[in-house]
Amino acid sequence: MSKKMIWKGLFGQQHVKTMLANAFDNKTLGHAYLFCGDAGAGAFQAALEMSMAALCTGNVEETPCGKCESCIKVMRLSHPDFHLVAPVCLEKEHRGTDGKLSQEGWSFLSDAAKSRLADPYIIPGYSSNPSIPVEWIKEVNHAVLRGPVIGGSNIVIIDGIDIMNKESANAMLKTLEEPPPGALFILITSRSNAILPTIASRCQTVRFGSVPPAEIKNVIDARFKDSVSSEVKDAAVRYSMGSPGRAIDLCKNPPGPVIEEACELIEECRIADWPAIFSHIDELARHGDFEQYERLFTYITYLVRSGFLGRIISSETYSDDIEDPGKTGNMSLSVDTHTVERCMTICREAISGVRAYGNVSIVLVNYMLSLTEILNEQKQ
Ligand SMILES: [Zn+2]
Repeated sequence: MSKKMIWKGLFGQQHVKTMLANAFDNKTLGHAYLFCGDAGAGAFQAALEMSMAALCTGNVEETPCGKCESCIKVMRLSHPDFHLVAPVCLEKEHRGTDGKLSQEGWSFLSDAAKSRLADPYIIPGYSSNPSIPVEWIKEVNHAVLRGPVIGGSNIVIIDGIDIMNKESANAMLKTLEEPPPGALFILITSRSNAILPTIASRCQTVRFGSVPPAEIKNVIDARFKDSVSSEVKDAAVRYSMGSPGRAIDLCKNPPGPVIEEACELIEECRIADWPAIFSHIDELARHGDFEQYERLFTYITYLVRSGFLGRIISSETYSDDIEDPGKTGNMSLSVDTHTVERCMTICREAISGVRAYGNVSIVLVNYMLSLTEILNEQKQ
């Protein structure tokens, strides 16, 4: 029986749905895809549904059925032909004195992958700079080269491929170059410009865009029902930047004060008010809440980006909220793509900086200096 692929839990992304389902139905799927999209936009959900569809053994016309043994094993990470690798923050105790991953280390990896699968839209948070252990890549490689155990397909999802170091990348390049029959690699990133060209060139790129506000609203209404107020839901939609995962995160951790703080900081940097900036940095360095810093840097980037988007996107999308002076202060920022890119770069550097260093003040000072420079170049 020829099966048709249907999407069950992927929100928006119509072009992706059509393209991949057509390739699946016509049996023209490639052997390696690079899924690029904002965190929480749906790339991981899509990868999971594709894996289930490829391995589903349900006696149904539309796949994945979500009910057969194969589908269930994929969701539980116990299918021998389904492999998932995700970034992790390994601790000292996860490696033995010889530097090799201990038993505890391997079960830590497996738990991380299982929790990633349990709720695919959740944006993973990390306590320090995450990495992809080379042993994990080698193990998956081995399984792919050995060939599928049950059916004709052997599926590998690698989440956060941009985090992979050279050693891990080299370990998988050869398999990507000459994939054995049945192998399907789905590599996922939110930073397509950070991918090694040797990897990107061996994959078909699939881009995930923003999900429309109305659809994001439906996602969070269905998930949170009345447990979250409508004000929080509205703010979550507004600041989600088109990512259902970010909207879910915002409903769990309402952004209120972080957004206000981000507005204040942008305004201080824009007018280069150094006494205010330094007293702000002191205050931030004192509380030492790393997740809070990440949120702050992310919202600053968002606010800069939305000033930019407000100019070029039509009024049905996110821009109608951006003019709201109560939400973004009285800033009139209009910036170009180059500025947005630079803001995103310093945001990423600052996030990895606070994860890597004990001295948060230095990271904060560097970040504010760069932001002041970027915003003031813009004014001239
Ligand atoms: Zn099934």
